[in-house]
Amino acid sequence: MTTPIDRSTTWPYEDGEPGVFAYARFSSPTVAEAERRLGELDGGTALLFASGAAASTAVVLALLEPGQTVALAEGAYYGTGALLGELGRWGVRHVEFDQTGAPPDGVDLVWLEAPSNPFLTMPDFEAAAAHPARTICDSTAATPLNVKPLELGCDLALHSATKYLSGHDDALVGAVVCGDEATAARLLEFRRRTGPVPGPDTAWLLLRGLATLEVRLARQTASARDIVERLRTHPRVDVVRYPGFGGLLSFDVADADAARAVETGTRLIANMTSLGGVTSRIEARARWEGQRVPPGLLRLSIGLEDPDALWADLERALAAA
Ligand code: PLP
Repeated sequence: MTTPIDRSTTWPYEDGEPGVFAYARFSSPTVAEAERRLGELDGGTALLFASGAAASTAVVLALLEPGQTVALAEGAYYGTGALLGELGRWGVRHVEFDQTGAPPDGVDLVWLEAPSNPFLTMPDFEAAAAHPARTICDSTAATPLNVKPLELGCDLALHSATKYLSGHDDALVGAVVCGDEATAARLLEFRRRTGPVPGPDTAWLLLRGLATLEVRLARQTASARDIVERLRTHPRVDVVRYPGFGGLLSFDVADADAARAVETGTRLIANMTSLGGVTSRIEARARWEGQRVPPGLLRLSIGLEDPDALWADLERALAAA
């Protein structure tokens, strides 16, 4: 009924030659099964990595050359910009662009995020597909149940599977899903050589998360829509950002002090980072992103709690802010 966890790091050769599994840095059965399942969901060939950031690093280092440029969606996960900045030391440049329009000319990789975290904008997939460069879409916050980048003309999909896909805040794992076999083979070769693979226990937790993804997301979406409606008419809330699906939203209160009062004032909703888990959490993003976000911006990831209880918690914290 469940996929066994194979913790072996090496397997006997078959008739004197390596079989499908030979050494765990290359591939292993539990990881391969999670890849098969995720590949089915996104409609491509999936490769798992040790984290979402490891997946992003592999894409840049394996598929680009020094001197090439990435066009990154403005307002995308701040860590992706930071990562590209770090890799700038190896000669990969990046520029930001408004992903609701066409990517700039003369770039070598277009990097979308659906929806962007924490601004919740959606890319113009048609404009990106019309661009001659290879296109990747980080669809962490959407999941393949809401957005399938490969069907929308992207070459690659990327996930921090740490979030909705595994879903319980107990597995750090990333994935790249490739639309063509040559790119998948190149990334696999890079991963074999450089080693950022997840272990079998992590892959198993991902498999278990995938089994409940649909029901988790349905509940999180219904609750998020409900909370968004109520936030939109709350007198202390200025802006509410929500793409219309999923469990992630952000909203602004007056300033940094008000944001701090709200995030530390909730009881049911945890004051912590990350998103996509069964536990709701809220945080002021300025602590990580500085002036890139409004000082009063709060990111809220809706979990599986009772929506009325979530609203009561939020309303109490807003009243005290
Ligand atoms: N992409 C998005 C949209 C994220 O939110 C994150 C992490 O928050 C990442 C990538 C990086 O993933 P990880 O934390 O698994 O390395």
